[in-house]
Amino acid sequence: MSITIDLTGRVAFVTGSTRGIGRAIAETLHEAGASVAILGRSAETATAVAEALGERARGFACDVTDPEAIRAAVSACEAALGPVDILVNNAGLTRDNLLLRLSEADWDEVLAANLRGAFIATQCVIKGMMKRRHGRIINITSVVGLTGNAGQSNYAASKAGLIGFTKSIAKEYAARGVLANCIAPGFIETDMTAVLPEGPRLALLESIPLGRLGAPTEIAGAVLYLASDLAGYVTGQVLVVDGGMIS
Ligand code: NDP
Repeated sequence: MSITIDLTGRVAFVTGSTRGIGRAIAETLHEAGASVAILGRSAETATAVAEALGERARGFACDVTDPEAIRAAVSACEAALGPVDILVNNAGLTRDNLLLRLSEADWDEVLAANLRGAFIATQCVIKGMMKRRHGRIINITSVVGLTGNAGQSNYAASKAGLIGFTKSIAKEYAARGVLANCIAPGFIETDMTAVLPEGPRLALLESIPLGRLGAPTEIAGAVLYLASDLAGYVTGQVLVVDGGMIS
């Protein structure tokens, strides 16, 4: 038996898709036949990534800390590619510090990007999804949202918030054919984890049963599943992809 995931005719909007996990997600959905909006803070960078993908890909500026920029990017995407069927809220950032040293600005920026950004983008696409009685919202949270992490109270709060948000919209829109799920990556090889110093990195590897960091394509595979018809009965879930770290 062979199974092919075919997303031909679907439009995917993947925030933070100029590099790292988001780029792997966008490339995988595109490979499966979807049209894909590539998004980052700079229109030039996003357009260059989209051009490298070729047909069915377009690049747009979308700073997820700016609600107006998100609304404008969704409108531009829908004008160029069609209504969004698959929203992947992937863009995220860290501003790590111990609680007593954490500034309000760093708290606000992380919450604005990682949580409010997902809320605004979801609000932009959900009406169309309801009308078409089909949609997939896939939010990239983190194992840190499930476990907490010293020095990341702002990031962990944003990622835990994303899980509560996802479970709520899963309940609100299931009857309209819109499914919402989270993926919680463990440690994945990207620019975000490249800054880990040697010592903590080795300690981290010891805590991962599979003995290695994950690859962005391994998160993309989970997104592809949740975006496909194979996941038609899955909503409100958190799929942990972490090499066994928190199991
Ligand atoms: P990277 O830092 O490697 O890439 C971040 C992406 O987000 C880039 O495409 C960047 O584009 C974009 N971005 C950054 N700031 C903004 C912003 N304000 N508005 C819009 N886009 C922005 O991150 P990862 O690929 O590692 O992480 C992707 C997601 O996965 C994040 O939500 C992260 O929290 C989550 N995650 C990552 C883990 C890991 O180990 N890497 C583990 C668990 C979760 P540009 O610079 O072009 O604007």
